[in-house]
Amino acid sequence: MPALRQKIRARPHDMDPRPAETAFRLAAILYHRFMPSEPAPSLVLSFEDARRVVEDHAARIQPPDEESVGLLAATGRVLAEPLVADRDMPPFPRATRDGFAVRTEDLTKLPARLRVTGEIKAGSVGFDVPASVERGQAVSIMTGAPVPRGAGAVVMIEHTVLHGETVEITRGVAAGENIVPQGAEARRGGLLAGPGTPLNPAAIALAASVGKARLRVFTRPRVAVLATGDEIVDVAATPGATQIRNSNSFSLAAQIQQAGGEPMLLPIAPDEPRALRRLIEEGLQSDLLLLTGGVSMGRYDLVEQVLAEMRAEFFFAGAKIQPGRPVVFGSAACAGAATGADASAGQDSDYFFGLPGNPVSTMVTFDLFVQPLLRALAGASPRKLMFARARLKSEIRVKTGLRRFLPAVLAGEFEDSQVELVPWQGSGDLAAVARANCYVVVPPDCERIAAGEWTALMMRE
Ligand code: AMP
Ligand code: MG
Repeated sequence: MPALRQKIRARPHDMDPRPAETAFRLAAILYHRFMPSEPAPSLVLSFEDARRVVEDHAARIQPPDEESVGLLAATGRVLAEPLVADRDMPPFPRATRDGFAVRTEDLTKLPARLRVTGEIKAGSVGFDVPASVERGQAVSIMTGAPVPRGAGAVVMIEHTVLHGETVEITRGVAAGENIVPQGAEARRGGLLAGPGTPLNPAAIALAASVGKARLRVFTRPRVAVLATGDEIVDVAATPGATQIRNSNSFSLAAQIQQAGGEPMLLPIAPDEPRALRRLIEEGLQSDLLLLTGGVSMGRYDLVEQVLAEMRAEFFFAGAKIQPGRPVVFGSAACAGAATGADASAGQDSDYFFGLPGNPVSTMVTFDLFVQPLLRALAGASPRKLMFARARLKSEIRVKTGLRRFLPAVLAGEFEDSQVELVPWQGSGDLAAVARANCYVVVPPDCERIAAGEWTALMMRE
């Protein structure tokens, strides 16, 4: 039985509190009743299966175009070229401590007295630098300086006493201690980071260390964001008594930016099929379309019906998670694709997600499902979800059947860190999620996690 009709039957006596005020409303109802092409209920997958479906699609996406940008402007972008060591790293055996370069065989008896023959500071060059350390000698050396030939280790200054021309070594060292050998970090010509590496501060520093003032990066995917709902008004508008400001387009835009995409906010779509379709078609012109709202079981949740009418393919139409159960993932042909106008990711159709409208659901489903696809569209290498573990501060009780991602706060320091759920009014509670810094992840077969137990959590991106 098509899910559509199930939905209608599932509502007790069609007691919709909202009268159909306009012809549009009536059209929406008729549309809903006679469009039987909504995806089947079997398309509701477990979290793991739904995630795998997205990852499989992500793996087939071709790398995007490339461009060259200044090093600092590359922060947050995705590397498109191999980053190669232009010389050995370190380029010389490097002292990692201030102290004395010595031959280890001189330290068999302690304390040992050695003659100081010179000093090497970081950046030292030329004839003032002792080329080697001979038996019975020590060379004063600073952190970051090249270790002279013959020296087997550097003794930290804290373990020495200087007496004019000689130094007394009071503690022994192992061979190689406080020296990084030339090329130990990377050999000249060695690959430091490959295309697909997200350019975080460490990767930017790595590029700087090999002299890259500019970098080739992948172009950012354009992600259209379409908020739906008759009650939703623009952020600049004064909402009527029953209206809600559009916050989802902004949480999504911020998440898109963080994930390396370029958000494009479309006008808010009403719960009316023709206007909705027009805006969906516009959104499909970009590399990815994210819809929010209109994917639940209500009479005016038209997103799936409109997409089905556009002959969209649905890969899943629900995941057994909370929040975010009604999440939809699919692809639809876009009008410009055949002409090559939108062949950015090598697709002849474009991916879309229908994210549930509740603000917390929207954010969670982005992190869980949109992220991996968007990363692929941005040219980034795939990455598994990362979970940490922490002790639970207070007991959690839930019903079984869904994998839950519950807004929580991880607090405390060192061995004392603990995680606690944020009190919330459900998946519409934006204020609660704003107080959270992570989600506690409860497996679907779990009814209770006792206080003090170790529990899985996912940090917020
Ligand atoms: P829906 O998924 O359309 O059934 O909406 C679920 C809930 O999310 C309702 O309370 C909506 O008012 C709310 N909602 C939907 N879209 C947005 C949005 N763009 N911004 C803020 N809240 C929204
Ligand atoms: Mg709605």
